[in-house]
Formats: sequence, C-alpha cells, structure tokens
Amino acid sequence: MDTQVLIIGAGPTGLTLAVDLARRGVAFRIVDAAPQPFHGSRGKGLQPRSMEVFDDLGVIDEILASGRFHLRMRHYRGHEVVREIDMHEGHYPTPETPYASTLVIPQFRVEQILRDRLASLGGKVEYGMSLTDFTQDDHGVTATINGTDVRASHLVGCDGGKSFVRKHLGVGFVGETWEDQRMLVGDVRATGLDREFWHGWGDETGFLGLCPLPGTDLYQFQATGDGDFQEIVNARTGRSDIVIEEVTWSSLYRVNIRMVDRFRVGRVFLAGDAAHVHSPAGGQGMNTGIQDAYNLGWKLGLDALLDTYETERMPVAEWLLGLTTRLHQSRSMKRDDDTLQLNLSYRTDDAPGLRAGDRMPDGLTESGRIFDLLRGPHFTTLDRADGPILVRPDGYIAAIGESAIDTYFRQTPVAQRDHRRVAVGDRPA
Ligand SMILES: Cc1cc2nc3c(=O)[nH]c(=O)nc-3n(C[C@H](O)[C@H](O)[C@H](O)COP(=O)(O)OP(=O)(O)OC[C@H]3O[C@@H](n4cnc5c(N)ncnc54)[C@H](O)[C@@H]3O)c2cc1C
Repeated sequence: MDTQVLIIGAGPTGLTLAVDLARRGVAFRIVDAAPQPFHGSRGKGLQPRSMEVFDDLGVIDEILASGRFHLRMRHYRGHEVVREIDMHEGHYPTPETPYASTLVIPQFRVEQILRDRLASLGGKVEYGMSLTDFTQDDHGVTATINGTDVRASHLVGCDGGKSFVRKHLGVGFVGETWEDQRMLVGDVRATGLDREFWHGWGDETGFLGLCPLPGTDLYQFQATGDGDFQEIVNARTGRSDIVIEEVTWSSLYRVNIRMVDRFRVGRVFLAGDAAHVHSPAGGQGMNTGIQDAYNLGWKLGLDALLDTYETERMPVAEWLLGLTTRLHQSRSMKRDDDTLQLNLSYRTDDAPGLRAGDRMPDGLTESGRIFDLLRGPHFTTLDRADGPILVRPDGYIAAIGESAIDTYFRQTPVAQRDHRRVAVGDRPA
C-alpha cells in the first residue's frame, strides 16, 4: 500500500478529514486537481456544530478571530432602512453550548486555517493532481492520479458537486435542478456601504445581498438572476452611490437539490458536496461536508464501524435537502435551532433525555470543561456520580451506563484501543 487513505479534493470536507487523520497518525494523501486553493468565498456561514468540531481539531481560536457573530442585516427600500434584524437574536453562549449562533467567515479563510493546521501536523495538499480512474478489489483501491497509480486501503471522494468519484462508481444523484432559479454570486470591492451591516434589497421579483466578509475588504454579492454586477446594484437599489470597484470572483449558481443513494461502495466513500448539493439558503453546505468528514475520520482510523457512516449520514443529507429547500422557498431570514446543526443526532429512538447517538453537550465539571476533556482523537468515558457516559471521538454519545458501555466495547473492541476515563463528579450537563 502507498497510503492508507487517499482523499480526493481539498475543499472544507477533504481538509477536515485530512486534519483529523493527521492527528490520529493515520497515513493519508490529499490531492486536488486545481493548481492552487480556490480564492472565492462561496460558503460564508459557519454553524455552531462545525465550531465544536473545530474546537476539537484545535483551530477554534483562529476561526473565531477571523469571523463575526451577530452581523446585523439591513433591508432597504432604496436608501431607506425598512427593517434591521439580527438573524440569531437571543442566541448567546451557555456552558452547554459555547458556540450559539452562526459565524460569518469566508470559506477560503476556513480552508486556509485548516491547511495551516494540516501543515502544523506535518501534512500538505498536493495541488495540480487529478484523479482520472480507479478500481478496487478486496484489499484496496488503485487510483490513477496524473497518470500514475496509487494504491490505498480506502479512497474518499470529497471532490465536490460534480464528483468524478461518484460518477465513476455509478452512484445515483437523485433530485432536481431548478433551471429557472439562477443566482449571480461573487466577491466584490465596493464603496458606499457600511461594513457593520449585511445589506439587502428586494421583493418577490428578485433580491440583492451584499455581505461584508470579515478579515477582508470584500463583500459577498448575491443576486437572483444574471447580468452585470453594477447594473444589478443600480437597478435593485435605485441608488447611484454604491460603486462596485472590482469583482475578484464570480459564479453563476443554479439551484441543485440532489443527494446520493449510497455513501459507500466497498472501499470508496463519498463526502460533502460529492454526496449532497442544495440551495445555499441557511448556510449549510460547507458545514455538512465538515461533519461528514468528522463522522468518517475516526471510523477510518479504527478501520471499524465503516458501515455506520452511511447509516448515520444519509438521514442527515435527507434532512438537509428538506431544510434548505424550505428556507429557499419561504425566503425567510429567520433562523432556528435546526440551522445551527446542534440538534442533529444519530439516536435511534425518541425517548426523552440524553441518549446514545446524541451530541454530548459541553458543561463545567469538577475536572474541567467537558469539551476540554473530550478533545483529541480518543473515546472518553465521563464517570459521573449517576453513571458513566461513553463519548465517541466525534463528540456523540456511544453508550450510557456501565452495561451498555461493556456491550459497545464487546461489539467494537478496537474502540478501547485509545480510550480515556475521567471522573467528572456530579456536575456535568
Ligand atoms: C458558486 C458557489 C456558491 C456557494 N455559496 C454557498 C453559500 O453561500 N453558503 C454555503 O453554505 N455554501 C455555499 N456553497 C457551497 C459550499 O461552497 C460547498 O458546500 C462546499 O464547498 C463543499 O465542500 P466540499 O469540500 O465538499 O467540496 P468543494 O469545496 O467543491 O471541493 C472539491 C474539491 O475537489 C477538487 N476536485 C474535483 N475533482 C477532482 C479530481 N478528479 N481530482 C482531484 N481533485 C478534484 C476540486 O478542485 C475542489 O477543490 C457554494 C458553492 C458554490 C460553487
């Protein structure tokens, strides 16, 4: 074998997986067909659950320093502000939920922070390396990259919405494309706007949004339809004082709502946009890819529970397509807990209270903050006065109570390989 895991694509999904594998000491390569990192902002909303992932991966300080919470949105008629809202009003950190609302941060910054973390762990993206073919057998995958064969135990297609990996596997991408719903997006330098606000104009005939991207002098431009950036600004705002000085990235976006019918074929996995695409409403795309990767990383590290990747992430993809389509159609700017992705659970029943499959909330204990105790690639048993909780490496509960934990370890002996037990007294969440 040349390597254990071959990651195709270095967007947020592939990079998250690479960082997770690097800190686990799992051998991997990450290749990207592009000659260099993508410079457009694309996704710009990082959800609280992704911040919890980044807390675990050791990049949360850099992420928080590069983004902005509670960016207020101003809706105008021409110059007149007709409405000003904080989409996340009332959402503030608590001991159980340290990241409580969406952080505005350009995707290119998230990717840069992940690349830097990867470098600190000794890894790097190989750019200009394109996957053009692969085959698999009982023992591994042989992938052709820039004409050379690479042998790996597993291959993960994090290669975006047009995924070569998905197409080559012949996996269905079921759903629809709304041909009539085009959106012009881009990063622009503009004058005449206050960078303290996200600015919006529009009605049922079309909208225009200009969102300041923290840590840059750019705005992300989003408008329904197509055309010239300045002409759209003039037409939608009725103003002449907003001047688009430069467009550094632009893309005409069509709403695609599709997901795969399989997340795994043998030794090959699909993650991120390769597995699901949807409306950008609600800012879920980059986040769901980050969490696909985080769900898969520890399973690849253990070479166990690999089937549960599909059983756990497929329902999330279904939920995601429903949520984003609903937000897109309603045009509502109101964001509830669903969009924060904190309520997502892998539990299999509806019983009340904390259950196996739920996200382990943060909280203060006699031994310190729970997220500090969980941080790292290992399983953790939190020994509480009222019984132990076994937490998976991705922060979800594996089992509650001594006998359920014994059963879990009996069924998955490798899970005990890297396991810590911490007494937390009687004050956990
Ligand atoms: C125009 C546009 C606007 C968007 N706006 C938003 C938004 O406002 N909010 C939001 O949440 N999301 C938005 N998204 C979606 C968000 O950007 C994606 O969900 C996110 O990028 C998915 O990450 P990924 O890592 O799965 O895939 P990508 O970021 O697409 O990365 C895939 C990578 O795979 C590489 N690759 C492809 N084929 C090969 C191959 N054969 N060999 C090697 N490498 C390969 C590509 O070069 C690329 O770098 C937008 C996307 C686009 C395109």
